[in-house]
Amino acid sequence: MAALEEKLAALSTHPPKFAVRGRFVHANARRAGLIEFVEDGLIVVEDGAIIAVAKDADQIKAVLAEHRPQDVVELAETEFLAPGMVDCHVHAPQYAYSGTATDKPLMEWLQHYTFPAEKRCVDVDYAKTLYSALVDRLLMQGTTCVALYATIHVPATNALVDICLEKGLRAVVGKVCMDRHGGDGYEETTAEALAGTRACLDYIRKAQPGASGLSRLVQPCVIPRFIPTCTPELLAGLGDIARESDDVWVQSHASEAPDQVKFVDTLHPGKRCTEIFESHGLLTDKCVMAHCVYLEDGELDTFARKGAGVACCPLSNAIFSLSPGWHAFPFHKAHAKGVRVGMGTDIAGGYAASILVACRHAAVASKHDMGEKDVDYKDAFWAATLGGARALGLDTVLGNFEVGKQFDAVRINCEAGNYDTFPSAIHPCCPSRLEHDFEKFVNLGDDRNIASVYVQGKRRR
Ligand SMILES: [Zn+2]
Repeated sequence: MAALEEKLAALSTHPPKFAVRGRFVHANARRAGLIEFVEDGLIVVEDGAIIAVAKDADQIKAVLAEHRPQDVVELAETEFLAPGMVDCHVHAPQYAYSGTATDKPLMEWLQHYTFPAEKRCVDVDYAKTLYSALVDRLLMQGTTCVALYATIHVPATNALVDICLEKGLRAVVGKVCMDRHGGDGYEETTAEALAGTRACLDYIRKAQPGASGLSRLVQPCVIPRFIPTCTPELLAGLGDIARESDDVWVQSHASEAPDQVKFVDTLHPGKRCTEIFESHGLLTDKCVMAHCVYLEDGELDTFARKGAGVACCPLSNAIFSLSPGWHAFPFHKAHAKGVRVGMGTDIAGGYAASILVACRHAAVASKHDMGEKDVDYKDAFWAATLGGARALGLDTVLGNFEVGKQFDAVRINCEAGNYDTFPSAIHPCCPSRLEHDFEKFVNLGDDRNIASVYVQGKRRR
């Protein structure tokens, strides 16, 4: 712990009030998919929060004179700043087998790979090693905020909280609850699930003395794994916990894959995931449901009415598709109905830890679904930043560079990646070198391009 603090302190060389000057790109809140490009900008940060933003030379002069930052970081002309990326769906224990296990339908996959792997986290030392590697990997990819599932184990869930706090990764974290259909001994009683959830919520609150509400780095969450593994009693109990306090988030899965939708129908004849979650008080404005591929129009309306978010996970959506019933998440239709949509890697149903990969898969998936309008790189990046913040109910805190938000950001070096920028080849239709560099980064970039990562104004990588 001491060594880690020293390492982070060494990274955080900026004084409490500093500024970054150069090009920046971020999501504009006016409409989904709208990206703002600033060729010469300045962002002033004080105690982790953005206190001023300038977007041209005159504004920069005025802002510098007014705020007098103690240090100004000048970006190179081949660099730009972007908001930290938000991953709305990650299963921390599954990171161990990400990149494998892509050969089974969802319900079989869970029994064959997932539950045995998650069961191992009863060993806290094993969980700590695994979670530490995952958090490092996510920060390396430029992910600064993540919605995390742990396992049914309270000690390992609390260890995940500690690791996020130590390494400075913003997160929504919870203990997974499942009191039936776990198989292989990976389940708990209803009472254990509810008591364990309360214990983890308290742990998360107490682990951050002096912070409350949205100022917390880690937010507490209840997680009914999904309808098939939760009895109505468990869903009702978790709904009660979510209602008791306004600082409790909810995560789960809804209408993910054909075999899962069918299983829900056998357990709750004639009912859909949305109705079941809503009737138990689990569809709230602090709730994010993963996948939602097979939601009907009326269910999307319910999501919009309740302010619930969706984690669009295009890679695992495709892997668990059971074609020919496959279709993509209705990205534009959901936005048009007012649903909050973020992107998720869904480690390890999706094998890549980078949300940029999820952006690319969202674009490809939309091309394959004839019923859907194309999702382009701007739509996807918007969803991977401000969209994700909105889906998690954290958009007053992060998601883009607006005054009052936290400085969660990534510094991109366009020349450091596994591709060539070729500025001389900018197409006449492309408005600027910055847009050219941004499109290349979203489509071709990886952790090599990510020169530094900030969360709450502190360097974490
Ligand atoms: Zn999942």
